[in-house]
Amino acid sequence: MKDYPHWIDGAEHAPSGGQWIDTVDPFRNETWARIARGNAQDADAAVKAAKGAMTTGPWAKMSATQRGKLMLRIAELLRENVERLAEIEVRDNGKLMAEMRGQLNFAADLWHFYAGLADKIEGSVMPIEKPDILAMTFREPVGVVAAITAWNVPVNFFAQKCAPALAAGCAVVVKPSEFSSVSSLEFVRLTKEAGLPDGVLNVVTGFGHEIGAPLVEHVDVAQISFTGSDVTGARIYEAAARHMKRAAMELGGKSPNIVFADADLDAAVSGAVSGIFGASGQMCTAGSRLLVQNSAKEEFTQRLVAVTRTIRLGDPMDPETQMGPISTRPQFEKVLNYIKIAHEDGARCVAGGKIPQGPSIQGGQFVEPTIFTDVSNDMRIAREEVFGPILSIIGFEDEDEAIRLANDTNYGLAAAVWTSDIGRLIRVCRALQSGVVWGNTYRTYCLTMPVGGRKLSGIGREFGIEAVGEFLETKSVMISTARASPTASFVPR
Ligand code: NAD
Repeated sequence: MKDYPHWIDGAEHAPSGGQWIDTVDPFRNETWARIARGNAQDADAAVKAAKGAMTTGPWAKMSATQRGKLMLRIAELLRENVERLAEIEVRDNGKLMAEMRGQLNFAADLWHFYAGLADKIEGSVMPIEKPDILAMTFREPVGVVAAITAWNVPVNFFAQKCAPALAAGCAVVVKPSEFSSVSSLEFVRLTKEAGLPDGVLNVVTGFGHEIGAPLVEHVDVAQISFTGSDVTGARIYEAAARHMKRAAMELGGKSPNIVFADADLDAAVSGAVSGIFGASGQMCTAGSRLLVQNSAKEEFTQRLVAVTRTIRLGDPMDPETQMGPISTRPQFEKVLNYIKIAHEDGARCVAGGKIPQGPSIQGGQFVEPTIFTDVSNDMRIAREEVFGPILSIIGFEDEDEAIRLANDTNYGLAAAVWTSDIGRLIRVCRALQSGVVWGNTYRTYCLTMPVGGRKLSGIGREFGIEAVGEFLETKSVMISTARASPTASFVPR
């Protein structure tokens, strides 16, 4: 069994408290490695290293083009290591091997994209009414960033946050989830191999309240970039506000997936299935509320149930497996509890709803892909994020009711609409209060398209050019070009 210390200032750093956390393979239900259990002292060491990199190290003197070239090398090294990192993620997180290959290549694409952007961040010369003043804006790195992330796609979160931060010239301390830190620790070593100066990227591990909170509170951290639940997000946002720090929040969702009777129903079934059962439902953008027009609800439900019953659960390394285990023990228990709550609240289970049995899944943290119908939008199963393979079907009569139900939620991360009426498609896309809206598709991600939430789903955007703005400060610079020194005056002109 391997021990994974923190990674600070380009080197391994043993936990100062001398303690470790077991990291568990959710398919075999066995401990396979240990990660450092960090504390405030470790957080401080990592922030010092990042601050040093931004002030005195070679990173601070590097041109934006040089930064971009380094990031390009990181993208290449990540691509060369996709297979190895994917295997680690399957083991640590229960992700499907096939899915991880795609996701890690997407992470490499993100590094590639932001590498190209590093030397295209421009300030402006501003037109002003004072002829003797040259007025400009500089766009400068915000400072040290603390990136705190959830467990579902660690290396992708790393890329989503660190690649734009590095393009902006920042240095980062990453705190991955205590449930899945190993891939980030393996990945950060590659950045050293790529030639990234020490201290620019640091990874510390441990529990949120023990090392995450001190990172957020640290006086030398200028920006928090968080991905996780709305409950933790609110706690971090409050702490950031006390220090007037900037904070970007990528939080949960309860995304509506709206199917009108005139839609291509086969395509919509396929979108609904991948939208909720992909990654075992452990996606922030999971289409967990399926709104189906009443005239098609019965037929659509039957087709959906038939496809759901064919989903193959099993070893995440097996290319035939379509759904893996639930990644963490607390999450597994939470999912089972929501099944109980849905029954108690009067929803009707039409598929799944149990812990599956069978030799190929013995001992793993599996839950059957589950569908509830007769759900009303005020039931807990329709209002609270489950983050697991549980779908609620809710009927609606017409376009107005579909929009009303879709927006009647505390969240606003993603939404989708399926219809063959182009006018309605555009009207509904416009009316949905959501950071991302898909039309006749689901789970389509493009690295140039910003992603982020409204309401309890968060603040700020990742992906695309917009993401770099999260890591930049604008400085207004005004320089006198007058030949003679101005006479002293106490009245501004
Ligand atoms: P979580 O909120 O429990 O934990 C997220 C991170 O915060 C972990 O690293 C944890 O250690 C840390 N943390 C906990 N308490 C902290 C504190 N007081 N101070 C600082 N850090 C602290 O979330 P999770 O269970 O790991 O992830 C699941 C959640 O993440 C779901 O709600 C899901 O929707 C959300 N998520 C959102 C996105 C998105 O892009 N919007 C993507 C993936 C997951």
